[in-house]
Amino acid sequence: MRRKGTLFVICGPSGVGKGTVCKELLKNISGIDLSISATTREIRKGEVEGVNYYFIDKDKFEEMIENDEFLEYAQVYDNFYGTPKKYVIEQLNIGKDVILEIDPQGAMQIKEKFKEGIFIFLLPPSMKELKNRIIGRGRDSEDNIKKRLKCAYEEIDFIKEYDYYIINDDLLKAVNNLASIIKAERCRVKEDICEIVRKYKEE
Ligand code: 5GP
Repeated sequence: MRRKGTLFVICGPSGVGKGTVCKELLKNISGIDLSISATTREIRKGEVEGVNYYFIDKDKFEEMIENDEFLEYAQVYDNFYGTPKKYVIEQLNIGKDVILEIDPQGAMQIKEKFKEGIFIFLLPPSMKELKNRIIGRGRDSEDNIKKRLKCAYEEIDFIKEYDYYIINDDLLKAVNNLASIIKAERCRVKEDICEIVRKYKEE
């Protein structure tokens, strides 16, 4: 019997390394796909349409909201980001796990709709290190760095809403911890256990 897939949501402050951890995870574990979000932000050097994001304009984003095409969406700093619903639902229905790498506003929207989702918060080793990582990316003005750090302090206050936390002090360790969470959740006794037991007895 094929179980329905599990939705994993990975969240954490800007600059903590969510993208890198998720990218590495996919090389280490099968049966899970990363959802590709839509965004109104400008494409960055090295990014590829349909791989990193679906880059769309604000009109198209609003049209997708109207048509109820997002599982969740949020304004993050100056841009809009959303998780297209169709792909995620299709994957879960065929028994594939899906990972969403989204901001905390989006994660809380998902929590309302998917009580059975698994919510993971990625923490930096320290706030000082987070600041260094944001500066190190070389993408943000001084003002933006301040904004991101202020947000990070606020976001960490909501960590109690999550099921797990991982400290990203070492990439390999963080990826291994995330893979362990996913593997453990795949063994969880859930509502479908009666159906699984029934199949055993039929043999
Ligand atoms: P970036 O522009 O640096 O790729 O992402 C900025 C922030 O937007 C990150 O915190 C990222 O997790 C978040 N983000 C990316 N995709 C989505 C999405 O579909 N929904 C929400 N709510 N946040 C997203």
